[in-house]
Amino acid sequence: MGCVASKNAVSVTPAADSSGALRDRGQPRAPVPSGPVPLPVPAAAVSSLRSSSSTARRSEKVKDDAEEQGKAVVAVPAASRSFRLRSLRKSLEGEQVAAGWPPWLSAVAGEAIQGWIPLKADSFEKLEKVGQGTYSSVFRARDLETGKIVALKKVRFDNFEPESVRFMAREIQILRRLDHPNVMKLEGLITSRLSCSLYLVFEYMEHDLAGLCSSPDIKFTEAQLKCYMNQLLSGLEHCHSRRVVHRDIKGANLLVNNEGILKIADFGLANYFDPSKNHPLTSRVVTLWYRPPELLLGSTHYDAAVDLWSIGCVFAEMFRGKPILQGRTEVEQLHKIFKLCGSPADDYWKKSKLPHATIFKPHHPYPSTLRDVFKEVPENALSLLETLLSVEPYKRGTASGALSSEFFRTKPYACEPSSLPKYTPNKEMDAKLREDALRRKASRGHGTEASKKSSRLSRAAREPSAVPKQINNTEVSFSFFYDWMLHQMLSEDRFSPAV
Ligand code: ADP
Ligand code: MG
Repeated sequence: MGCVASKNAVSVTPAADSSGALRDRGQPRAPVPSGPVPLPVPAAAVSSLRSSSSTARRSEKVKDDAEEQGKAVVAVPAASRSFRLRSLRKSLEGEQVAAGWPPWLSAVAGEAIQGWIPLKADSFEKLEKVGQGTYSSVFRARDLETGKIVALKKVRFDNFEPESVRFMAREIQILRRLDHPNVMKLEGLITSRLSCSLYLVFEYMEHDLAGLCSSPDIKFTEAQLKCYMNQLLSGLEHCHSRRVVHRDIKGANLLVNNEGILKIADFGLANYFDPSKNHPLTSRVVTLWYRPPELLLGSTHYDAAVDLWSIGCVFAEMFRGKPILQGRTEVEQLHKIFKLCGSPADDYWKKSKLPHATIFKPHHPYPSTLRDVFKEVPENALSLLETLLSVEPYKRGTASGALSSEFFRTKPYACEPSSLPKYTPNKEMDAKLREDALRRKASRGHGTEASKKSSRLSRAAREPSAVPKQINNTEVSFSFFYDWMLHQMLSEDRFSPAV
């Protein structure tokens, strides 16, 4: 693993194009398609990309366009069709391996890499590490051919386990289907026939919204806030129009460059959704503080509205400078939501048939306190916030609806991205480093109000991950015990007893 780290030499070795021909050293790099990429792959190859394990990133059955197309081919006897598809897939794999892809990747992620050639590790100089997620490490790097600074996302997976490669394949496949200025564009993939690692190449972005929001020196004006929200909603409108639900919207996944352009990144949990909600999806997605109530209540038939809830949380965080709903467990998260946004009407509990409704339905309805809590927020912003943070998903509207709301039609209008201030590098990771430095300083007896504020704010950077990491047994039993205790308290107080 780590081939980029180990090779810093300047050398653009010949690469094969998708037809298997070799590219000369001096020739330009094979173009990476810029628009939506047609993916001409047999249904068998596509169905092998479907996820099936019980973990969050792999668990639901995906029914996408390609699968639909596969179903349309019905006039051939089943045995001969499956034989033809097998041999088609074999020849496709052969072509991809000849193009320089490792066989293990081609075998399970054929559709995701179709039509591309791998970029070479030694044509990049790896600089410092700039981000660390649950499943990846991100590095700043220089493309030695063009001099361009890029971000390399090294995806952590066990390539001997096809399931983990399939779930990474979905991230690549989804990224290739999206094409919008406010959505991170996948520029290429680095690997080689003999390599066991994979790097995703992206444009380098200097900041993320979590870092900017939690910085003690940054207070957004209304025009700046509208500018970020406008870009965020435009990117999301595009994803939803392509039937992609992101499922991990939060500040750390919203990247901002020095030109003020915001891009939605990290499609590691994204999936296709079915607007008629007939196909079950896992409810174990979205980072806890940004997770909508229907997922906390166990819904498996949800749609794009889950992203709108998360956007509501980010929107409020931009006003407050810190995450607004910081629950430690799922039960506490739900309780915080009800206290802020009110509990749903009886009708909703009856109709929605949410799996955990009987356990968590309060005895008495909670009124919304949102307008009191956010008194300082201007009326049209508050009204949009109320819509996005509707406990009942269908009341959240759509990204397009939010874009045409009063908030964007009243003065001060959104500023131009290019007029946004040039911030010093500020990422979730920088916020963590800043907080560590302040904590060290405070422990030496030099704590100031500013340091306390920063320390409080940058807890934002420590939000729990969307997917539970592996934890040991002691932690598991403590977490269950804590949840149980809290649940007992809530049941005695206002919640119905469990049945
Ligand atoms: P994960 O799935 O592990 O969360 P992300 O794609 O969110 O991976 O990347 C982790 C972090 O790395 C981000 O929060 C961000 O700070 C940084 N990062 C990701 N992509 C880029 C990029 N294109 N440019 C600069 N930094 C990035
Ligand atoms: Mg992330």
